Amino acid sequence: MTHRVESAVLEKAGTPPQSLYDMCRTQYWHAVDAVGLDPAIARILGSTTNEIIVHFPVQMDDGRIEVLTGYRVQHNNVLGPFKGGLRFHPSVDLDEVRALATWMTWKSAIVDIPFGGAKGGIQLEPSLYSRKELERITRRFTFALNGNIGPEYDIPAPDVNTTPQVMAWILDTFLTMMPPMERNRSLHVVTGKPLEAGGCVGRDKATGQGVVHCIERWLKDRGSSLRGKIFTVQGFGNVGSWTARLLQGLGATLIAVEDAGGAIAADAIDAEALLSHVRTRGSVAGYEPAIPITHEEFLTTEADVFIPAALEAQITEETAPLLSVDLVAEGANGPTTPEGDRLLRDRGIDVIPDILCNAGGVVVSYFEWLQNKRSESWELEEVDRKLRCKLLAGYDRMEQARREYGVDPRTAAHIVALKRLEAVYEQRGIFP
Ligand code: NAD
Repeated sequence: MTHRVESAVLEKAGTPPQSLYDMCRTQYWHAVDAVGLDPAIARILGSTTNEIIVHFPVQMDDGRIEVLTGYRVQHNNVLGPFKGGLRFHPSVDLDEVRALATWMTWKSAIVDIPFGGAKGGIQLEPSLYSRKELERITRRFTFALNGNIGPEYDIPAPDVNTTPQVMAWILDTFLTMMPPMERNRSLHVVTGKPLEAGGCVGRDKATGQGVVHCIERWLKDRGSSLRGKIFTVQGFGNVGSWTARLLQGLGATLIAVEDAGGAIAADAIDAEALLSHVRTRGSVAGYEPAIPITHEEFLTTEADVFIPAALEAQITEETAPLLSVDLVAEGANGPTTPEGDRLLRDRGIDVIPDILCNAGGVVVSYFEWLQNKRSESWELEEVDRKLRCKLLAGYDRMEQARREYGVDPRTAAHIVALKRLEAVYEQRGIFP
């Protein structure tokens, strides 16, 4: 069958994967083979729909003009509008954004929300720009994207180095480009907005909250609970810091953290105090109640759970043998390469895959989108309850596929998404 040929070619060309998109496609074709997906549908879902690259000039504070490059990849919208974050990072390129957009499609399908998948970003190092420059860059990127985003078409959200403030600038720029009578109907063009600008209570913690629900469920299935468990976190931004604080609140102990500035360890790290330190110092490095450790020491730290919540491709052929944990709960997108996955499996380390584990963010983004459309404002209790329900239902579907097909959790999660999308294509058919 065609997809088997394609998967063989990919394996030959990309083992170990040369790029994030190779990695994403290796996972995909493995699941396609495992579930026996219709080859025509496999080819449709195996490619992106639209790939937008924009080059745009922005004036810097000193009067210089810089030309920046931004991306938006729209993978699939058969379940609903394209949906996915925007990232500001030097590694952003077409390959990375294709992978992240594809994973978004699977994510929405697993947790059963009516969104497709997209992702975007600008290739830059944000720490090199002033706040005013970042605002002009964001606004000019939004202007350059123009009709390629929209409240019923493609809805960005925060990701690495983009904040609720960045979403507010996108919103304001987008609304300025709309006819006045349509502005109040378009608040849902971005999610992850500040509360006052139409955001949703609980969106800031949503991704971390979802990670915590998944870890709790994994422990419960093994007759255990969070009380007394120890964990390590890589990345102490939105996802990492929220996950750590919520786990701590449920009786677990943080013993090692790494971010872009360094790594630290202690018998118990107070996640709240560490966050105050990071807010003033920009990194976990230099947090006095803990000692500095190396990257290797961080990875070899013995714990019950490791939460990668930084960048992709962190658990690889080289680093997977170093881990000494029972569970990897993937807060980040794509933190484990296929080789890393294989080694974790061989070593009996379980993985809750990213496309389920970090889906809390897109679920609450969906709630924000719904509230904006209906001019409603939900209480935190309602948001939390509905988020838990959506995520755990996704978890159940993954477990069921795992049992039914005898596959690993990542492949099972992909299968849930692929079956859901296949059903729609079969019902709707292919135009013309
Ligand atoms: P963020 O910008 O708030 O934080 C990123 C963190 O990663 C920072 O602490 C940074 O220092 C750290 N980091 C960067 N490079 C590193 C390196 N080489 N080694 C160790 N740490 C490093 O970003 P975020 O929103 O928390 O996103 C983190 C991950 O979670 C990304 O993979 C993102 O795609 C994913 N994710 C985010 C959301 C969301 O709602 N924000 C939702 C789903 C998935």
